[in-house]
Amino acid sequence: MGIGEKKPLALFTQIEEMVEWLASFGKSQSNGVTRQLYSKEWQAAQQAVEKRMEEAGLRAYYDDVGNLFGRLAGRQENASTILTGSHIDTVIDGGKYDGAYGIIASLIAVEYLYKHYGLPRKNIEVVSLCEEEGSRFPMTYWGSGSIAGIKSFADIQDLKDANGMPFVEAMRQAGFGQGKYPQPRRDDLDCFIELHIEQGEVLEREGKSIGVVSHIVGQRRYNVTVIGESNHAGTTPMGWRKDAMHTAAELIQVLMQRAKETSPELVTTVGQMSVEPNISNVIPRKVTFSMDIRHSDEQVLFEFCEAVCKEFKLITSKHHTEFSIYNWMNEKPVKMCERLNKISESILGREGIPFKKMTSGAGHDSQVFGQFCPTSLLFVPSHKGISHSPYEFTRTEDLEKGIQLLIKVLYELAY
Ligand SMILES: [Zn+2]
Repeated sequence: MGIGEKKPLALFTQIEEMVEWLASFGKSQSNGVTRQLYSKEWQAAQQAVEKRMEEAGLRAYYDDVGNLFGRLAGRQENASTILTGSHIDTVIDGGKYDGAYGIIASLIAVEYLYKHYGLPRKNIEVVSLCEEEGSRFPMTYWGSGSIAGIKSFADIQDLKDANGMPFVEAMRQAGFGQGKYPQPRRDDLDCFIELHIEQGEVLEREGKSIGVVSHIVGQRRYNVTVIGESNHAGTTPMGWRKDAMHTAAELIQVLMQRAKETSPELVTTVGQMSVEPNISNVIPRKVTFSMDIRHSDEQVLFEFCEAVCKEFKLITSKHHTEFSIYNWMNEKPVKMCERLNKISESILGREGIPFKKMTSGAGHDSQVFGQFCPTSLLFVPSHKGISHSPYEFTRTEDLEKGIQLLIKVLYELAY
């Protein structure tokens, strides 16, 4: 029996209710959500999801870092596991959809499949990942990284939050990290599927309902320091100056221009700058600024950064200043699974749902899973691209299209 033969479920009300339900754990004064790793709000949300999993007929269990799973065991002996879900933690005063939507969608989809088709061949597990954002401790992807075995307790030993609370102590107080639960590392995963809001406005602007992500972009981050000479703003003729700010301004201008010329997909941002001595009537001696550069092709990223660096040298010497550059982050692009993406694309094509093959400019748990097992990341539109904000919004009909797709993908993979 094909899945199209069942009458479509009216998911609308259920989705809206569940979005509000999950957002009620950690609701902020501005109607946003603050649910930081191992906090009271975080614990309440995980417990609520756990209860919801059990009600849906799934076997709920935690691992030792606090990832929560709802398992629908497959009929096949020694079946592998299809994992689907997203992260439960939020940034401070974040929105109702980032992370939460992936969990809600997976819960609804698996409950629907179980109700209509019984037990699958393969195991399906809904996952509510404990941490992705890095908004409490200086650590991102703690949940997915622990499952993939690229993060371990050694990585968190010395970490503290802004109030001085050690990571290990916060984890212990929430009941984890003491060997009470199974170790997080998994070796039975068939694949991971994550439904997430786009957090950009490409889908909305182009009138597409679903984004099928081919790559999560690579990111390089640098600090650039320009050294000149401080001097009097009134008595130093323009030609005699070693003005670190004038140099920095030209470097940034060139950086932006080259980015536009290189590829429509390449993005670069200078979001941080410091000036010394930072006085209005003194020529700046030192300017430091950040560079964030992203693209889905490692080669393009590499060549762009090399070329920009060369040009920076020429410009700084023209201005009789000096510069240094420090590369402190270098994350490679991660490719999503083509086979899984094709399944989504053919379902969407068959049903006439407008979709876009795209890259993700933001990081997600899928970039960790993508290096570990076949992974598919699917986007639904974000209104005006607003995210990490109480104003984050996706229309329920778009949320529903994502869930309908997930139901069908899981059906093809697991039944
Ligand atoms: Zn997210």
